[in-house]
Amino acid sequence: MEKRPVIVAEGLTRRFGDVVAVDHLDLEVQAGEVLGFLGHNGAGKTTTVRLLNGVLMADEGRASVLGFDPATQGPALRALTGVLTETPSLDERLTGRDNLAIYADMYGVAPGEVAGRVQALLDDFQLADRAEEKVAGYSRGMKQRLALARALVHRPQVLFLDEPTSGLDPVAARHVHAMVEALSGEEGRTVFLCTHNLAEAQRLCNRVAVLARGRVLALGTPAELAAHLGRSQRLQMEAEPAGAALEIMAAAGVTASAGENGRLALSGVSREAIPALVAALAGAGVRIYRVTPEEPSLEDVYFALQGEEVAA
Ligand code: ATP
Repeated sequence: MEKRPVIVAEGLTRRFGDVVAVDHLDLEVQAGEVLGFLGHNGAGKTTTVRLLNGVLMADEGRASVLGFDPATQGPALRALTGVLTETPSLDERLTGRDNLAIYADMYGVAPGEVAGRVQALLDDFQLADRAEEKVAGYSRGMKQRLALARALVHRPQVLFLDEPTSGLDPVAARHVHAMVEALSGEEGRTVFLCTHNLAEAQRLCNRVAVLARGRVLALGTPAELAAHLGRSQRLQMEAEPAGAALEIMAAAGVTASAGENGRLALSGVSREAIPALVAALAGAGVRIYRVTPEEPSLEDVYFALQGEEVAA
């Protein structure tokens, strides 16, 4: 991926009274990247999106999106960004088609292109057969798809998605995931994805930032963050007889417990220590059928980081 920062935040800070919603945030998002912005409720995700789009002013620090300063060049910037807010306000009295057409007009799509662009989006988001109905009668998933289509109507280069799948059923959520993958993959858009959904982040994001109380606790690829937790690596082993295996492991200082069918769960074994452990077991006549390292998931990383934060 070409290294060209599209979103930059330096010391970005926003307070609401005594609450520091965004606390000296430093961040760079590269062109074509899908950055996951993860955090509990109230961590500061939405406030960050609003600061980066110039709908809210920072108290300190600066930001740049596509070379624009959101604080002073908001309208020019918003012509090039698409935002799906957490609770998108669609006009419920209008049809799906009209909702998109009005937005296309507002965001400067050439009049001769509006009808075609709207139809293409209705097709892409599987809304074409309900396009002439009032949005008030749409399901939650249809409204979310329409809101996402609306955020894309002017072909924005940067897309901010705030909880794009919250409240969607698994099928609708998968459809949104496929759209995000297509947008970043084939179309090369940069996506800033706020989510609580760790599986979603693991699947879609090149890098993730874990946020708590307005501060970035960690930033990296899911694999990099998992490596940070390497010390707590776990292993699954299938070995017989389990009793003898447990004794040998206890003597080697490895914490292990036995499950069913000779399955053993080991923790605290470094990667480097695995061959010697296997050799010791085999040497003692233990039959080993399977050894599988369990890489920490993004979920493990997230909870470990949030735990560190709570303890701090
Ligand atoms: P969620 O996942 O619940 O959407 P979030 O990570 O998006 O949370 P924000 O909405 O950015 O979090 O809120 C961060 C903090 O700032 C919270 O403590 C929130 O109450 C506070 N806050 C946000 N907007 C305002 C506002 N307009 N007035 C007062 N406080 C606000």
